[in-house]
Amino acid sequence: MSFDSLGLDAKLLQAIQEQNYTEPTPIQQQAIPVILSGKDLMASAQTGTGKTAGFGLPILQKLLDQQTNTTNKPEAKKGRRPLYALILAPTRELAAQIGDNIRDYSRYLPIRSLVVFGGVSINPQMMKLRGGVDILIATPGRLLDLVQQNAVDLATVKVLVLDEADRMLDMGFIHDIRRVIAKLPKKRQNLMFSATFSDDIKVLAKSILHDPQSIAVAKTNSASEQITQYVHRVDKRRKRELLSYLIGKNQWQQVLIFTRTKYGANHLAEQLTKDGIKAAAIHGNKSQGARTKALADFKHDQIRALVATDIAARGLDIELLPYVVNYELPQVAEDYVHRIGRTGRAQNKGQAISLVCIDELPQLKAIEKLIKMPIPELTTQGFAVDPTIKAEPAKKTAPRRAQGKSQSTNNRSAPTNKSSGNANSGKLAKRQATSKHKSSYTQ
Ligand code: AMP
Repeated sequence: MSFDSLGLDAKLLQAIQEQNYTEPTPIQQQAIPVILSGKDLMASAQTGTGKTAGFGLPILQKLLDQQTNTTNKPEAKKGRRPLYALILAPTRELAAQIGDNIRDYSRYLPIRSLVVFGGVSINPQMMKLRGGVDILIATPGRLLDLVQQNAVDLATVKVLVLDEADRMLDMGFIHDIRRVIAKLPKKRQNLMFSATFSDDIKVLAKSILHDPQSIAVAKTNSASEQITQYVHRVDKRRKRELLSYLIGKNQWQQVLIFTRTKYGANHLAEQLTKDGIKAAAIHGNKSQGARTKALADFKHDQIRALVATDIAARGLDIELLPYVVNYELPQVAEDYVHRIGRTGRAQNKGQAISLVCIDELPQLKAIEKLIKMPIPELTTQGFAVDPTIKAEPAKKTAPRRAQGKSQSTNNRSAPTNKSSGNANSGKLAKRQATSKHKSSYTQ
């Protein structure tokens, strides 16, 4: 199937071509005709499947059709342009990325789009809204602030998009979403995208969508097949050392690393920097300016390692991101799918490696259950797990992780190659026996 056959305007097709999109991705093939037909949509799609163009292109097409139909009418000249589409995203970074994409796709169209999110001054956003906007991409909190200040009128909205709806719920945006929806006209088209389908999501979908068409591009809760996944067992106190070693030995030039806490992200970024690996942390306590800079530096190869918490990394779109490392496994198994979805995007292949200590085996089990497959195991000589270390009793709250005393990698005796195959328990031995990838990891 080609983009030409989807009924999109020549100017949109030109913009798509300039993005080097040669054919629509599966989500685009399915979503674009549904959205053009005016139906509500419930789409199960991870970030990385091309879902932004999946809703962005047909919205632009519909808006263009509407503009063509109304330009000759006298009322079209009066008043400021009414807001046509509202796209809600859970994080600032995701909103900014959607905004970038919409701007790319609409570069040859007389269409104005605007991104608004918190953490930056509200006044410039109010000024831009005053000039009139066709498509508004927003995080829920800032949108409500703008509504309260009468800076935006939602009564004209024809299309609502809830992107990464599961994450919106996880982040506690449900009340904000309901307050936004109360300001929208009853008659509108609703499009909902979610990577996972919990019962809460189904309840939300039922309350917002009218007779929706459901589409799914990957099996629900399955990880993208473009991504090769590995587990590397390691003692907790040696995780940083192993990570620096893997980055250096395999010459990873761009790796996104997940930690569970903001503190852990800062700490690890500092330690990697000490190890001679340029790194930066990105999380909710960082100013918007610092987050944007870290992301830009990472995209432009100024830093090799970007250390992120789940929320900060959600929705990050970094082209051709080859490696994701879970420095700590997430508490919620679904987050694993989101995390590794940062790599292997669109047509590209990626690798996700999870550094797992003995305390994290229950989380690993939950993840393997969710993705319905065991994750193959890697080992590195010199990093065999210490069989005398026992699991710590599970704690309810996420502890601040004090890392083991940091050793300089420069002085460390570098392990050379091949697998140790050293199992520390019957369970691990069994895991390794079933693993297809027992040898060393090389690129
Ligand atoms: P998304 O899931 O919307 O975040 O998109 C993931 C990545 O795929 C982005 O870098 C897009 O620019 C890219 N992309 C979207 N659609 C296509 C396509 N049809 N062909 C190639 N790349 C695409």
